Amino acid sequence: MRDERLADRLLHWFARHKRDLPWRREPRDPYRVWLAEVMLQQTQATTVVPYYERWLERFPTLEALAAAPLDAVLKMWEGLGYYARARNLHAAARAVVQTHDGRIPETVEALLALPGIGRYTAGAIASLAFNADAPALDGNIKRVLSRVHGLSAPKEAELWRLAELLLPPGRAGAFNEALMDLGATVCTPRAPRCPACPLRALCAAQASGDPEAYPARSNRKATPHHEVVTAVVVDERGRVLIGQRPPDGLLGGLWEFISSELRPSRRGEDAFGDRPSASLRRMIAARTGLRIGRADVALLGEVKHAFTHFRITRRAWLVRPAAGCCAKPQPKGYASLLWVAPTEVESLALTRSDQKIWRMCRDRLTVP
Ligand code: SF4
Repeated sequence: MRDERLADRLLHWFARHKRDLPWRREPRDPYRVWLAEVMLQQTQATTVVPYYERWLERFPTLEALAAAPLDAVLKMWEGLGYYARARNLHAAARAVVQTHDGRIPETVEALLALPGIGRYTAGAIASLAFNADAPALDGNIKRVLSRVHGLSAPKEAELWRLAELLLPPGRAGAFNEALMDLGATVCTPRAPRCPACPLRALCAAQASGDPEAYPARSNRKATPHHEVVTAVVVDERGRVLIGQRPPDGLLGGLWEFISSELRPSRRGEDAFGDRPSASLRRMIAARTGLRIGRADVALLGEVKHAFTHFRITRRAWLVRPAAGCCAKPQPKGYASLLWVAPTEVESLALTRSDQKIWRMCRDRLTVP
């Protein structure tokens, strides 16, 4: 049975405490709602705001996004991470233009048919942009519902049922946003501010005296760590060799300096030590077909980066092969390879760790 007290208290609180975010300006534009929801996945609102505003200057409408090349889309996403979101958004914008005459569908079912739109995003767009009675369950909302109902290890389906049951008909958009805001600002993962919470009188976790214990944390396994060796290869004309990652998969379509993960059996070998090595040359040959004999090689440094399920450490080298070694690179495991002037490197959509590597080495190259 629906508990109207919860919705009433929450909406009353929301009317006074809602966050002023650019994608909430009325009247709601479904394209902007969708864009914000995609950017906000795995990313905090304060980080998203400048990306959101820059994006809309470049792609003010769904049609503008659909007409843009993928490279330009990835460039605008650069630094926000989880690039599959940008690729899917772009593919979905094209699908909306081609199959829906440019109108974003209003139902959860039709939204779910678009690339990259899962149950949460479909529910969020349908409720926030079209005020459909659709639940939306993100990490913040899951935590709030688990705590209010005192659920230590709730199943996903159970939480969806609860979210549906609690939804006040005709006010789903505000209700979902209120739960999101409560989870982001009051019912935080650590140290929830129960005295300031509108739901404290209804909350089982608060009554237990240890609200932070809900939901119980799963025992996380140690995060795997990978070591990657990277070469910033510069030819005799001062051009930099750069590879585009394949379109699908991690960081798909982004550009990087020539890199390869070290197999566990090779870890600790000299490719990851302080001296350039045969294995650095082997790596360049394996990724580009270039057979580098003599070369000036200098260590640039290390860059660490964390993804959701693993961490990497990249050791980067500046490699200047002797003249004549760099004629025709062949992409091996890359979608393409390009020689670019140092002034052009920053115009490409680089991965975040490649941006750091570039900052380590650009001053050593001639950038007019
Ligand atoms: S009372 Fe505390 S634990 Fe319960 S919903 Fe509010 S902030 Fe979260």
